[in-house]
Amino acid sequence: MATAANTIEQVKERIEEVTPEQAREEIERGDVVLLDTRELTEWNESHLEGATLVPPIEVTDRADEVAPDSGRRVLIYCASGNRSARAADELQALGYESVASVAGGIKAWEAAGLPVIGAEGLTPEQRMRYSRHTLLPEVGVEGQAKLLASKVLLLGAGGLGSPSALYLAAAGIGTIGIVDDDLVDESNLQRQVIHDTTRVGAPKTESARQTIERLNPDVDVIEHRTRLGSENVLELLEPYDMIVDGADNFPTRYLLNDASVRLRKPVVSASILGFEGQVSTFVPYEGPCYRCLYPTPPPPELAPSCGAAGVLGVMAGVMGLLQANEVIKLAAEIGEPLVGRLLLYDSLGTRFTELKVRRDPECPICGPDAEEIPESELGKFPDYEAFCAGRPVAA
Ligand SMILES: [Zn+2]
Repeated sequence: MATAANTIEQVKERIEEVTPEQAREEIERGDVVLLDTRELTEWNESHLEGATLVPPIEVTDRADEVAPDSGRRVLIYCASGNRSARAADELQALGYESVASVAGGIKAWEAAGLPVIGAEGLTPEQRMRYSRHTLLPEVGVEGQAKLLASKVLLLGAGGLGSPSALYLAAAGIGTIGIVDDDLVDESNLQRQVIHDTTRVGAPKTESARQTIERLNPDVDVIEHRTRLGSENVLELLEPYDMIVDGADNFPTRYLLNDASVRLRKPVVSASILGFEGQVSTFVPYEGPCYRCLYPTPPPPELAPSCGAAGVLGVMAGVMGLLQANEVIKLAAEIGEPLVGRLLLYDSLGTRFTELKVRRDPECPICGPDAEEIPESELGKFPDYEAFCAGRPVAA
């Protein structure tokens, strides 16, 4: 076991060192575990693509996690090659068969003109603000930069949109558009946490914008103080990368679906009623669309938006945050989105259930034989008018 009494020279005699060029060749051939043994602040400045951060003090404890196969080749680098030499020594003592330290570290690597992933695009303030994201190897500086560059449209700043918007803003989604033409009502405050008592009577988009701006000045909030209709849906969706559906009425859902499939924009959709909620992610042509799942709307008496229905406030938070989680994954291109899966949540029993959903080959919108429909027909279905005659009620 290496001890502090070992001089770095002694340690380096016991381990293998490779030059940055040799390391590059090995990395490009693949089947190498690449570890970065520095501190987070250094990692945030720049690091190598595909590396996993494991600070020096954690090498021994986290070896099993970051390099589960002790027979596999492991390359370690640090800033200038000393910490990585000690880490290589520690791993060898743990039984790792083929470990090498990159001589001269990332400094020598960069001096050799080899590529690194830098923190370009993140200001020092942003590096601090998002450090708990960039610390996650799955997100990193690159993932955070993707979040900051992404544009998300929220349909509704209501029950689902409020928690979604708060966490998406905190996460640094760079542009958040909000479609809502409603005013803040006292009865909203039990769950629509982006608004507060002083904002009763104010437009929801304005109230949401004020809260978001105070939370995170990085976020550009765009207010769309309007209702979604077939005449404006394509124009509203066009500038955004994805949509969070938080408007709990069926006509809007069908309209959004038809337009988003046409524009090939992912929609993260959730709904809540009482103590139950459901959420799914619709990525056009990769998985089913909303109409594949619900070819026809339920009868009006079962449609929650047709009257004032009760909902546990927390439910809106849970489901809205599951939506935000889906958005973050899509934007950072990590994880496994809820595509082709409908997740049901029963809050009274605290039970999640997952249903598989398949694309419908007969789907009039995303099926192979679907015909292009005129813009005025987007979102229509036969008994559309018989549906909620009143204005849509946001969740
Ligand atoms: Zn479909």
